Amino acid sequence: MQRREQQVNRTLPKTASTPSRPASWATSEAIRKTMLGSRSRDTRPELALRSALHKMGLRFRVAVAPISGSRRTADIVFPRDRLAVFVDGCFWHGCSEHYVPPVANAEYWIPKIERNRQRDRETNVILAKADWQVMRIWQHETIESASMRIAERLGDLRPKKTE
Ligand SMILES: [Zn+2]
Repeated sequence: MQRREQQVNRTLPKTASTPSRPASWATSEAIRKTMLGSRSRDTRPELALRSALHKMGLRFRVAVAPISGSRRTADIVFPRDRLAVFVDGCFWHGCSEHYVPPVANAEYWIPKIERNRQRDRETNVILAKADWQVMRIWQHETIESASMRIAERLGDLRPKKTE
């Protein structure tokens, strides 16, 4: 989640116009609602996932930067395990299964989503270089699947207790 960018986005549909073929009010309003819907849906899987992890007895930090001083925050962070988990919205992060580039204001949205994807790739590299493990969970993934994947990864990272 990139809260700062979302704040910026909120004002953008007004300014991003298509001079040759202006979108009607109804169309831009429909798109605006779709965007808002996508955004609010971004947070719900994350909350459900956090709740599921908590029930599994896992403890973590939320929305912190794994690398101190960096502005690249991860959604769920296990500091001791050096595991950073991102919950990526299908629209904002360009999921290959569900992301459909918007037709209206395409010249704005397509590069915008591509920049998000690029930033995600950069973040993965930055964290990996700093010896962090990165997991990306898609918004469309089930909570059960996501929480199991995280638990398994933690199991791999944590030293095994020997009898
Ligand atoms: Zn998806």
